[in-house]
Amino acid sequence: MAGPGSDDAPIPPGQWLGLLGGGQLGRMFCMAAQSLGYRVAVLDPGADSPAGSVADRHIHADYLAPAGLARLAALARAATTEFENVPAAALEYLARSARVTPAAASVAIAQDRIREKTFLRDHGFAVVPFAVVGSEREAADVDPALVPGIVKSARLGYDGKGQARVATAAEVVAAFRAMGKVPCVLEKLADLACEVSVIVARSDAGATTTWPVAENRHREGILDVSIVPARVEAALAERAREIATRVAAALDYRGVLCVEMFVTRDGALLVNELAPRPHNSGHYTIDACVTSQFEQQARVLAGLPLGDTRQHEPAVMVNLLGDVWFEGASAAPREPDWTCVLRHPQAKLHLYGKAEPRRGRKMGHVTCLAPTLAGALAVAAAIKRDLGIPGAGEFG
Ligand code: ADP
Ligand code: MG
Repeated sequence: MAGPGSDDAPIPPGQWLGLLGGGQLGRMFCMAAQSLGYRVAVLDPGADSPAGSVADRHIHADYLAPAGLARLAALARAATTEFENVPAAALEYLARSARVTPAAASVAIAQDRIREKTFLRDHGFAVVPFAVVGSEREAADVDPALVPGIVKSARLGYDGKGQARVATAAEVVAAFRAMGKVPCVLEKLADLACEVSVIVARSDAGATTTWPVAENRHREGILDVSIVPARVEAALAERAREIATRVAAALDYRGVLCVEMFVTRDGALLVNELAPRPHNSGHYTIDACVTSQFEQQARVLAGLPLGDTRQHEPAVMVNLLGDVWFEGASAAPREPDWTCVLRHPQAKLHLYGKAEPRRGRKMGHVTCLAPTLAGALAVAAAIKRDLGIPGAGEFG
């Protein structure tokens, strides 16, 4: 349908772009868009948010507050989101007067594991065997071949939250109850060789770019390290990038999308989940690639041509969680001494400006660059050790 929202003329620098959400992904989007000359308005209910504090304007309002949305719509000809749980109604409202990428329909699929897994399976993508668990009856009747497995809430899970491992079919019922009887999926536990992700960007015209494959290591359900390029065979990496491209096409996606995948020990590549936005495993693109995932998000949003995704140098990204602010079991956080990062001239420190460090909270990241992956891994290991982040010796 023709309308103001479907005007595909590029939006030139100097104009306003809108963003829903105030977290670190939004902060890095703001910085990239501003560097292209745009002004950014952030709609976010938080008073002192990572994105709000760098935005040219912070509209301090709830996502569904009509006055806030109206202010954003009056200012910005285009709007995007930095998190998948943005209410679809907010995107739909903005789409009446502005370009919105990604579309509410894409976000709606990615924010619900049942819709996401069903969509992927129905479009021919390999996924872990799963079943929908929407009632106690369904929980009691699950296929025993799906255990041991993981019960995951369909909505609002992240960083391993909203998940319970189950060893027997009986435990599925208990997990469903413990989850508050919200709609869930039961996934069979995959025998993982490693986890990888591909960030893909797709324009209005359907042009697509992918970045090199990231190998992701998690700790307590939270991304710990991304190693790029992933230490997998070239043919598998190529397949992963093709899958990401096909997923974006199947969704008729606009914007930046992360496709998380499992590599199983028997060599299968299974799509785990989608994030309809830039992703933590793509932060390395800021320092290691010609075009970052955030710049690409701004380019798609403004209708500019896509930038080159080539990687200059091998990279290892280490997440900085709030734990780093706490020494041992001491109660009071303190600012870490960043000298141990900054003394490595090819380690790039990114801090998100969050006032309150909490254990498990993403506070920043470091991207370690080097002419060889072994060199980048060595720097990352040294930084981990110096900051007291576990797992410094696990890069074998
Ligand atoms: P989220 O990232 O939203 O917390 P994920 O579905 O990505 O949720 O699960 C978090 C992590 O848990 C994955 O990165 C992986 O390490 C592990 N995991 C999730 N599902 C499975 C599975 N079916 N088999 C094996 N490991 C899994
Ligand atoms: Mg995940």
